[in-house]
Amino acid sequence: MNILSLKKILSSEPKFRFKQVMQAIYVDFVYDWDEVTTLSKELRSKLNIEAPLVINSGLSESKDKNTNKVLITLEDGLQIETVLMKHINGRRTVCVSSQVGCPLACTFCDTGKMGFKRNLTSYEIIEQVIFWGRILKKNNERVSNVVFMGMGEPFLNYDNVMKAIRVLNDKDGFDIGARKISISTAGLVTEIRKLAKEDIQVNLAISLHAPNDVLRSKLMPVNKQVSLKKLFEAIDYYIDLTNRKVMFEYLMIDKINDSEIDAKQLAELMSRPLYMVNLIPYNPTNKYQPSSQKAIDVFKNILRKRGVNVNQRFGFGQDIKAACGQLAGKKK
Ligand code: SAH
Repeated sequence: MNILSLKKILSSEPKFRFKQVMQAIYVDFVYDWDEVTTLSKELRSKLNIEAPLVINSGLSESKDKNTNKVLITLEDGLQIETVLMKHINGRRTVCVSSQVGCPLACTFCDTGKMGFKRNLTSYEIIEQVIFWGRILKKNNERVSNVVFMGMGEPFLNYDNVMKAIRVLNDKDGFDIGARKISISTAGLVTEIRKLAKEDIQVNLAISLHAPNDVLRSKLMPVNKQVSLKKLFEAIDYYIDLTNRKVMFEYLMIDKINDSEIDAKQLAELMSRPLYMVNLIPYNPTNKYQPSSQKAIDVFKNILRKRGVNVNQRFGFGQDIKAACGQLAGKKK
């Protein structure tokens, strides 16, 4: 699908055309311009040639039916993955990729292992949400939440990510509320500060995964440049400006970061009421194993006793490798 050229194609048309077209793509979820009968035949065939709506994809569904993953082939043949998670409470969350591959090379993450190919354009990001919007529409459902937790580091593709968010948020288009959109970052401080000053307030999640610099630098090489001190300075700047909570994601990896000492150190870091911790069950990769539920419970209780706001995230889609950190752009 290439709808980047849309504005240009419509430049000689009256203004309301653009609204009609937005409606067709993001609300009616048409697959082909010929479905949009409010447009002239001529314009429809022009759009079908210059801005086709085809999304090139192959679907795989998890056994639990609550997670679906799809592999989308981009115009240059590269592939990305996007995931739909159906929550019991009716939430329909789409997890989008922001890059093909990722340059950060976190040791626990499969995406990091495939290296970095390129940034996605804003429409390649939006297209992932449109894909699921089309599927959900068949059951009269719609995408309620979008999380930037797929392949890539969104803050290394800041401008395109923000452009995509603005389109997804647009009342004339998808109309997904800013509070229903979350960006997850390994912790790029310049962009955390930049996000604090945006006029659109999406949720911020930080992939923390370690409670001290020694361990974090081992697991996440990006920490060698950033350090926890600088990271928390940027996060506090963000909170001071926005007064919004920040979600810290903490993977529970067996015997790597799940000891009682780790929990106590993490509690020390969690010094502000707007800090929240999300403990994430690790999805096994070749290198590491998940913590036992018992270890997670002990860890969680240490944090709770010290007044930290902590939750355990529910794991999704392990069986189709659709879980976080398992997106590696390969068909099974
Ligand atoms: N680069 C961004 C966006 C990717 S989000 C970031 O780091 O936040 C992907 C999330 O999945 C991150 O929190 C990442 O740390 C986590 N993750 C990576 N490998 C995982 C695994 N094997 N199991 C569960 N979560 C994993």
